[in-house]
Amino acid sequence: MDAAANPSTAIDSGPLSDRLASSPPGLVSYEPATGVEVWRGRIGDVEETVKRARRAWGGWAAQPLSTRMELVRRFANEVRKDAEKLATTIARETGKPMWEANAEVEAVIAKVETSIRAYAERTAQRKLDSAIQGSLAVRHKPHGVMAVISPYNMPAHLPNAHIVPALIAGNAVIFKPSERAPATGELLARCFNRAGISSAVMQLLVGGPDIGQALVAHDGVDGVLFTGSANTGIAINRKLATRPDKVCALEMGGNNPLVVWDTPKITDAAALIVQSAFASAGQRCTAARRLIVKDSMYDAIVGETKALADRIIFGAPFDEPAPFMGPVIDNAAADGLAESFVYLMSHGGKAVKHLVRPHDTLPFVSPAIIDTTAMKDRPDVELFGPILQVIRVSDLDEAIAEANNTRFGLVSSLIGGSPQEYNRFWANVRAGIVNWNRPTISPSHAAPMGGIGLSGNHRPTGYYAADYCAYPVASGEVEQPRAVIGVGLK
Ligand code: NAD
Repeated sequence: MDAAANPSTAIDSGPLSDRLASSPPGLVSYEPATGVEVWRGRIGDVEETVKRARRAWGGWAAQPLSTRMELVRRFANEVRKDAEKLATTIARETGKPMWEANAEVEAVIAKVETSIRAYAERTAQRKLDSAIQGSLAVRHKPHGVMAVISPYNMPAHLPNAHIVPALIAGNAVIFKPSERAPATGELLARCFNRAGISSAVMQLLVGGPDIGQALVAHDGVDGVLFTGSANTGIAINRKLATRPDKVCALEMGGNNPLVVWDTPKITDAAALIVQSAFASAGQRCTAARRLIVKDSMYDAIVGETKALADRIIFGAPFDEPAPFMGPVIDNAAADGLAESFVYLMSHGGKAVKHLVRPHDTLPFVSPAIIDTTAMKDRPDVELFGPILQVIRVSDLDEAIAEANNTRFGLVSSLIGGSPQEYNRFWANVRAGIVNWNRPTISPSHAAPMGGIGLSGNHRPTGYYAADYCAYPVASGEVEQPRAVIGVGLK
């Protein structure tokens, strides 16, 4: 990142007082766990940023693919060199425990080789030869300038999952990080630029929703690669309704079900449930929100899950012993979760484990479990935090119907059951990821990642990100013109 492109002030870049004095009002991010300021900087200029990207992308697209691949590999090396700083920044800015921030950095690095393999496989050049008609070639071209708009919960891995495939394919990228995680965004962008990918080809654009809106609407942007909430995804989709020429890839949230059927492995089942519902303080798109349990398993499963959730340490990222989960992102999010819990309670929900906010001014929220079986109209919304609803059912058809009782469709998992029951579950449940005896979280990088319904728009990322980063061009090719008109001539 060169300073002129984004005159922000990163963490560790000088005394805070100097930075405050020199920067006009802009964006500030804070540590959720302490309230301490992490980053302060200027809001980017959409017009300027798009102009730079448009000037740069042709040159980048003209580089041999091998050069672009080499440069993203260098990016992975830059991330390795900066791994500790990047992980620390992620942990500070999101509040997630350090062990989890380290895993996110590993995912960023791993994404590079996966994306290189995926590009080669998904967009491989093909040539079909025919003696009479010459050859038919299928090759791919980049779209141009891609806007990557990302959320706060994995502020390095999620944007990176769009950026790397987009760059490999030959697009210029404008990366708008979450307004809650600009420091992480800035460090990530610097790693790209230090690797030799210019700050015009891969630009950081700091700002909030208004900057995101302006970017989406800009004529100089050829595609929007978005990860975030369904509400924002819908707003972007609406904005682009009259722009079929722009790529629009939407990865949104979920109201993910975890169905527990017959299993003797109660302790393992509880561990899978707790991982699925409470990792990252429930701030994962893939987190389990609804635990659908067979009647006869209810007492054992819910009892064991509660006992395990009672043992969860939630605390600040650098605490010793390490916490299982940190705070949620800010007080507004924590307030919203507390209100949602009260709403569920006052509409027929029965608390299994109450939601507690142990700190008046910081957004720590305890893991909470509530039985909502008796609720008539369970709100089909994504409660983005550590709240797990339990629903009791009597047979597998009812469980599947309950799992599908949502407008979302990101992940569904079945724990227990026979192979035949899993087959039935797999065939009838509606989701982009369907697992058996695996948590809902942590999808594989080697697979497509995306959902149906309000969870996405059928443009899966993960291994299939290559598909939306380049378009196929079919070319009939013969070295010399050769043609006769064999019919209909006088
Ligand atoms: P968000 O939708 O509030 O914000 C995401 C990004 O969109 C931010 O950068 C924001 O500034 C920008 N934005 C907001 N309004 C915009 C608009 N009108 N036009 C353009 N840009 C706009 O999401 P969040 O709260 O940061 O993140 C949490 C959400 O992300 C959850 O819903 C979660 O499920 C989802 N998520 C989805 C995936 C996935 O892969 N499906 C992964 C992680 C998170």
